[in-house]
Amino acid sequence: MDASRDLAAALLEATTAKRDEMLVSLAALVDQESPSTDKGSLDRLAMHLAEVWRDIGGRAAVIENSGHGNHVRVVFGGSTVKDGEPRPGLVLGHFDTVWPVGTAERRPMTVQDGRALGPGAFDMKAGLVIAEYALRAVRDLRLVLPRPIVLLFNSDEEIGSGTSRAMIEEAAARSEYVLVLEPAVPGGALKTARKGVGEFVLAVAGRASHSGAAHEEGESAVEELAQQIVRLHQMTNYDVGTTVNVGVIEGGTRPNVVAAYARARIDVRAWTREEAERIAKAIRGLQPVNPATTLTISGGFDRYPMERTPGTVRLFEAARRLGGALGLNLEERASGGASDGNFTAALGVPTLDGLGAVGDGSHAEHEYVDVTSLPERAALLALLLCEL
Ligand SMILES: [Zn+2]
Repeated sequence: MDASRDLAAALLEATTAKRDEMLVSLAALVDQESPSTDKGSLDRLAMHLAEVWRDIGGRAAVIENSGHGNHVRVVFGGSTVKDGEPRPGLVLGHFDTVWPVGTAERRPMTVQDGRALGPGAFDMKAGLVIAEYALRAVRDLRLVLPRPIVLLFNSDEEIGSGTSRAMIEEAAARSEYVLVLEPAVPGGALKTARKGVGEFVLAVAGRASHSGAAHEEGESAVEELAQQIVRLHQMTNYDVGTTVNVGVIEGGTRPNVVAAYARARIDVRAWTREEAERIAKAIRGLQPVNPATTLTISGGFDRYPMERTPGTVRLFEAARRLGGALGLNLEERASGGASDGNFTAALGVPTLDGLGAVGDGSHAEHEYVDVTSLPERAALLALLLCEL
């Protein structure tokens, strides 16, 4: 029995004893619905979270955010980096969900067959509860954190983190590492890489004319867009993991008018920054097939890829070792979806993601949390915070 094995056993015992409390805490979060665009709901939940974290002994502050939902910052230990003081560890979570108000009334949180179900339970309110009970266990066992811990909970992750990105990047730049409370890969694996996500808009301008009386005088923006869509989709290359998806199109006015205008919204994903930059350049360089039309291309990569850097591998190896002490066999996976971990990894800060709940069904009606994973993951996070 080495020291970390003893600590692991003590932490797992402490968090397992709180399993029912964790479900009560999760139900409170699920019941307080928090769609990304509803400031009133988000602000109420931000207040609730700040109170919960003050109760554990964290210095919790609601960060006012005019026009959008407030965010929450919690600090344990020294809050600033002074000479000789260790750099903080940063823990990221979000409390917004993709579910509109009223969903929890229709399907409130329930526990069936070892699964907790409810809107936003898996993505990612259970992650917030895991962090809460990790820090409760650290407090209850009077463990000493080797460095300050900063937790940031934002209210706009599901819509791109536009109002929290700067805050996250600023905190990450000062931090030694970043742990992200997004759900695990189904089965429990952690995420050491994520694709970057770009969003582009292609607008085509042509010339309108009467489709019967003067068809030949028109320059169809719809026809031009159709040809560009084929080009765009041909940029997909599964071998390197790059995808280009024209997900939304619109254009034209009436069947009997040659369309003067058409527009496409494009989602682009890539595994590396180099590939992201290459594909962005290719999209921006599109030329019209019909030279009488003009193309206007806007947008870009909002979240660059979270690449599997040596620093991230070191974090994963630590999690794997500590997970082993808890009896967990943790694996690593890459994910096609992005998270706020993309921002921090792109800054070069070692980032480990997927430390939230085990379960399945993000953004889907069947979303669930594996209840046994709650104490396990809380113990794992506590161990990481104590050892990293
Ligand atoms: Zn999420």
